[in-house]
Amino acid sequence: MAERKPVLITPEQLAQQRHFAALVSVMENRPRSYHVVTYGCQMNAHDSEKLSGMLADMGMDEAPTREDADFVIFNTCCVRDNAERRALGNVTWLKEVRKKNPNLIIAVCGCMIQQPGMAERILKQYKFIDLAFGTSNLWKLPELLHRTLNSDRAVVVVEDEDTIAEDLPLRRLRTDAAYITIMYGCDNFCSYCIVPYVRGRERSRDPEAILAEARALYESGVKEIMLLGQNVNSYGKGLENGMNFPELLRQLDAIGIPRIRFMTSHPKDLSDELIAVLGEAKHILPQFHLPVQHGNDEVLRRMNRRYTREQYLDKVRKLRAAVPGIGLTTDIIVGFPGETEEQFEETLSIVEEVGYDSAFTFIYSPRTGTVAAGMEDQIPEDVATDRIKRLIAVQEAGQRKAMARFLGTEEEVLVEGLSRRSDKAVSGHGRHGVSITFPGTEADIGQIVRVRVTEMKNNTLMAERI
Ligand code: SF4
Repeated sequence: MAERKPVLITPEQLAQQRHFAALVSVMENRPRSYHVVTYGCQMNAHDSEKLSGMLADMGMDEAPTREDADFVIFNTCCVRDNAERRALGNVTWLKEVRKKNPNLIIAVCGCMIQQPGMAERILKQYKFIDLAFGTSNLWKLPELLHRTLNSDRAVVVVEDEDTIAEDLPLRRLRTDAAYITIMYGCDNFCSYCIVPYVRGRERSRDPEAILAEARALYESGVKEIMLLGQNVNSYGKGLENGMNFPELLRQLDAIGIPRIRFMTSHPKDLSDELIAVLGEAKHILPQFHLPVQHGNDEVLRRMNRRYTREQYLDKVRKLRAAVPGIGLTTDIIVGFPGETEEQFEETLSIVEEVGYDSAFTFIYSPRTGTVAAGMEDQIPEDVATDRIKRLIAVQEAGQRKAMARFLGTEEEVLVEGLSRRSDKAVSGHGRHGVSITFPGTEADIGQIVRVRVTEMKNNTLMAERI
């Protein structure tokens, strides 16, 4: 693999963007309101917070719905085929909205645009789109919007660079919990995954910038931070100061933010040092998302995951020894090309053996440009559908067993909102990552509340206040 150096966006470049933002904010034909539609993972949700921050800086107000906005931006995901189709369907639907609001500006950004050939397709097939840009150009939004407002042709910009931009304006979704991106991109090239092609090579943020962001959040009263990266366990690769993920966690733990989480981890990069830090830390929550993807060694090899079933199970054992009761969650793919019934049954058995608190289960969907998309023996849809149903049944039975360990125990819940079923109850996540509902009011939102778990209902634990 050719080495690619990250491109650090300089303070001068950011100052230039602030200049464009000021220009846009006084243009006669500028949009007065915006709405960001987000697809995909937490990385995208955090990117949308940056888009919102830049748009607010240009003097726009957030509109409650896309129909009310003058500027609608779709922050897309292409990791799964259905997310891509949904995004394009919604963009097309907005064409109708423009009939009522001729000044509506439609923009599309994110992973989908970064795919080879997508920019040309946008130009040809989706002529009503005014602006399209890739993940590496996000920091340039003020300049791109300025160009769009001065042009009667679509502006499409996709650069193949691995950028890191610090100090972008941010409009965070929550005041009690915050995302911090610690690294971008991925070097793993799992054979089914498009991420390395659309998010670029792995690059880590400067630890001092991360620590400064965390300290500022602590001082503002934030109770939980979620560290983000496609593969946080390999944080630090390429940094000259020798910082790695366990050491970064140690230093973040010392700041005092009550709850620290992170996502996503690759099992092959989960080191003994990291497990030891989890065992010692005060504020890192006892939960771990460890995507297994499959239970059979041959399929794991063809997925290019670079661990075996036994190595994965060994890491699970070590995690449980270091952090008793740790909440384990995972991602699983069924119907990978060539998957036999026997191989699939090994996925069922690893799910039974581990006993996950929850699992994201997916039917394999080929992504153009990946190695697996060209593999023979793609699995027929009816076979894959049958397998995922059986997997979900096994996972749900395991989940019920795993969750029973919480009955009668005490938990601390960061309250996220009123319960969907009752306005006399609130819900949030406990320290182990499980959703918990208990009696409460709006005043509890954003607070950490101690509860005792009394009952288990589907995927939720019911509790009483202590
Ligand atoms: S680790 Fe694998 S699945 Fe995860 S983002 Fe990288 S290539 Fe994709």
